Amino acid sequence: MIHFVGAGPGAPDLITLRGAKLLARAGMVIYAGSLVNSELLNGTPEGCEIYNSASMTLDEVIEKMADADRRGLDVVRLHTGDPSIYGAIREQIDRLKALDVAYDITPGVSSFCAAAAAAEAEYTLPSVSQTLIITRMEGRTPVPPGEKLASLASHRASMALFLSSGLMEETCAALMQGGYAPDTPAAVVYKASWPEQKVLRGAVSTIAAMAAESGVRNTALILVGRFLGDDYELSKLYDDSFSHSFRKASQ
Ligand code: SAH
Repeated sequence: MIHFVGAGPGAPDLITLRGAKLLARAGMVIYAGSLVNSELLNGTPEGCEIYNSASMTLDEVIEKMADADRRGLDVVRLHTGDPSIYGAIREQIDRLKALDVAYDITPGVSSFCAAAAAAEAEYTLPSVSQTLIITRMEGRTPVPPGEKLASLASHRASMALFLSSGLMEETCAALMQGGYAPDTPAAVVYKASWPEQKVLRGAVSTIAAMAAESGVRNTALILVGRFLGDDYELSKLYDDSFSHSFRKASQ
């Protein structure tokens, strides 16, 4: 059987218990070497066959999986963060289905969650934003026409941009062109949860220069929105004049 597992954002103790258990009894691991922390491989049993998918094609990955499955091995396909976000798992799943190879999926802590933790931020602050847009700057992978960054920016919601820190200037220009005021708070979180983690804070008009200055290009998320600022309202959930199904209002 093939187990797609979210490895979490980097710190090896941010994999789920389920993911760690699957690793502990894997016969083969195929991991995304560019971003998965290789310390996680210490949790595999002796004799476990280990492959780094960074140098492999889809065909090669599927071939390895199918071969291991025929030999009765459990395979862990280890993806960074959560596999549902820019994980390219759908194409693997469809190939396994066609080959009649069984699989399951274990979620992981995505880097956008680890980045919020690093920045001590809440994406959904009352009266500031109740929406988080997860997107990317268009690069070599095109973005559908209805999802151009400038049009998403027009909502001025909280935004987490993956795969975009190599194109900081263009990204921030599109964000401002789309509707974020130049002084909108922004942050770049580099290697969230790794020992090298860095959190740079500025505004959407200044953050690109700050990132260039500190040499941050890859493995970073760009966060934008007033949720990174200090103005918000208290939540209704813990408001003593607000009843809900688990608590009666006191006044
Ligand atoms: N599935 C992953 C994302 C894979 S795409 C997840 O859920 O996090 C790879 C991009 O994710 C990188 O370009 C970077 O933008 C972001 N990323 C992954 N790990 C990160 C980390 N620890 N800190 C900051 N950004 C990270």
